[in-house]
Amino acid sequence: MPGELDDIIALVDCSKCGTELRVTYKQIRIHAAAACSCGTLIRLEDDTRIAAVHALIDETNPMSGDND
Ligand SMILES: [Zn+2]
Repeated sequence: MPGELDDIIALVDCSKCGTELRVTYKQIRIHAAAACSCGTLIRLEDDTRIAAVHALIDETNPMSGDND
């Protein structure tokens, strides 16, 4: 059930104000960005934290398909 992965939360630090944002995998997957309350748009693609999220997903769902 792919939808379950959307509940995974990644923590992303705002590069401008340092606020720690909680970003769902769904938001990462759809928008590849997170908007901080200070107005900074943090791009998430190619972020190392995203790799960490994917690692977590692999860990959580070892049997998930290799279809991406
Ligand atoms: Zn900020």
